[in-house]
Amino acid sequence: MFRATGNYGLLQGNYLFSEIAKRIEAYVAKNPDADIIRMGIGDVTRPLVPAVVSAMHKAVDEMGAKETFRGYGPEQGYAFLREAIAAGDYHARGVEVAADEIFVSDGAKCDVGSIQELFGENTVVAVTDPVYPVYVDTNVMAGRAGKYDAKKGGYEKIVYLPCTQENGFVPELPATPVDVIYLCYPNNPTGTTLTKAQLKVFVDYANKNGALLLYDSAYEVFISDPDVPHSIFEVEGAKTCAIEFRSFSKTAGFTGTRCAYAVVPKTLEYKDDTGSTVSLNAMWNRRHCTRFNGVPYITQMGALATYSAEGRAQVLESANYYMENARIIKAGLEQAGYAVFGGENAPYIWLKVPGGDSWAFFDELLKTKQIVGTPGAGFGNAGEGYFRMTAFASRENTKRAVERILTSTR
Ligand code: PLP
Repeated sequence: MFRATGNYGLLQGNYLFSEIAKRIEAYVAKNPDADIIRMGIGDVTRPLVPAVVSAMHKAVDEMGAKETFRGYGPEQGYAFLREAIAAGDYHARGVEVAADEIFVSDGAKCDVGSIQELFGENTVVAVTDPVYPVYVDTNVMAGRAGKYDAKKGGYEKIVYLPCTQENGFVPELPATPVDVIYLCYPNNPTGTTLTKAQLKVFVDYANKNGALLLYDSAYEVFISDPDVPHSIFEVEGAKTCAIEFRSFSKTAGFTGTRCAYAVVPKTLEYKDDTGSTVSLNAMWNRRHCTRFNGVPYITQMGALATYSAEGRAQVLESANYYMENARIIKAGLEQAGYAVFGGENAPYIWLKVPGGDSWAFFDELLKTKQIVGTPGAGFGNAGEGYFRMTAFASRENTKRAVERILTSTR
C-alpha cells in the first residue's frame, strides 16, 4: 500500500510568500482601489538586457534550421557556457575554477535543495537565522530536521546561527558539531555581507572538522565594496570544503528564464556512509546526468551573452539601477527614523521594526501606506523584530514608497 511521507506534515504553516499573498488579497478585496506598491517578493522587474535578447533570438533561429538544430545537450551545460563562467566569474578574480567543476542548472533554488541527495544518513545541518526558507524546508522534507520546537523557535535537529543587530549580523561558529553549514552572502534577507576574514573562520572550521560549506552567492553582482568577496573560493582553503551556488536570476534578470550553476570542486573528498572516500564532484556529476537533461540551448546562449563586453555592461547597468533604488530606500528609512541594515552590497534592506512584531508591522504598512514588504519572522526566529524591503521595484515606485513612508504619522 502506498504511503506518503510524513515529513511534509512537519513543515511550519504556509510558505512565507503564500501567506503574504493571502493577506494582500484580503486587503484588496476590502479596498479594491488601493494603489499597492510591492516591495516584498525578491523578483526582478527590469527586462532581459538587449545582448541577451538578441543572443536568444539567434539561438531560436538556429533551433529552427535543419543544419543547426540541437537535441539534448550535455547535462552539465554546454562547454561554451561552462568555460565562459570559469573565465568571467572566477579567473577574472584570480580564482582557479575549471569548467568541469561547473554544473549548469535551471535554478539555484533547485540546486540548494537537491544537493542533499549527496548527504549521508545522519548529516547535521546548520543555517544562519534569519535564513532563505528553502534551506530549512528542504531539510524538513528530507526528514533531516526533526519536529518544530516552538520553545527553541526552530526544528529540533537543525543548528541555528543567529544573525542580529547585536552581533553585527555575523554568525558565530556552531557550538555543537555540524556536518553542513549553509551560508548565503550577500545575504537574503538581511542584505548584509561577510568579509574574507569572516568567511575564513568558517572555511577553517569546515576544513578542520571535515564539514561542508554550501555557499549561496545568488546576489554577488550587487557587491560594490572591494573588501567583500564575490565567491567563497576567493577565501584560501575553500576548495577543499565548499560548494558554491550562483544564479543568473538576480544577476541578469533570469528569474523567468531560468539558468544557474553550482561549482563543485574536484578537490572535495569526503567519506561516505560505508567508509569509502568519495568525490563530491563525481557524485554531483552522476546525479546531474541521471536526474537532469540540461538547460535549454536557447537559455544557455542568453546566459553566455552576459559574459560579452556589451552584455556585461548592460547587466551591470541593471544591477546599478536596483542598487540606486536600495540607496533611496535606505536613506528614506533612515530619515524616517528607522534603524536600517544591508542595502549596500545587496538589493535587500533590513529594518528594525518599532515594537518588534514584524507581522503587525506588515499589516500596518499595508493598511496605512499600501506598501508590501516581508516580515522578518517569516525567515526564522531571529528574523522577528525585523522587516525586509527589496530594491527590485521601478524607480518611480521606489520613490513613491519612500515618500509615503516619510509622510508617515508614526
Ligand atoms: N538563493 C537565494 C538566496 C535566493 O534568494 C533565491 C531567490 O530568491 C534563489 C537562490 C533562487 O534562485 P533561482 O532563481 O536561480 O532558483
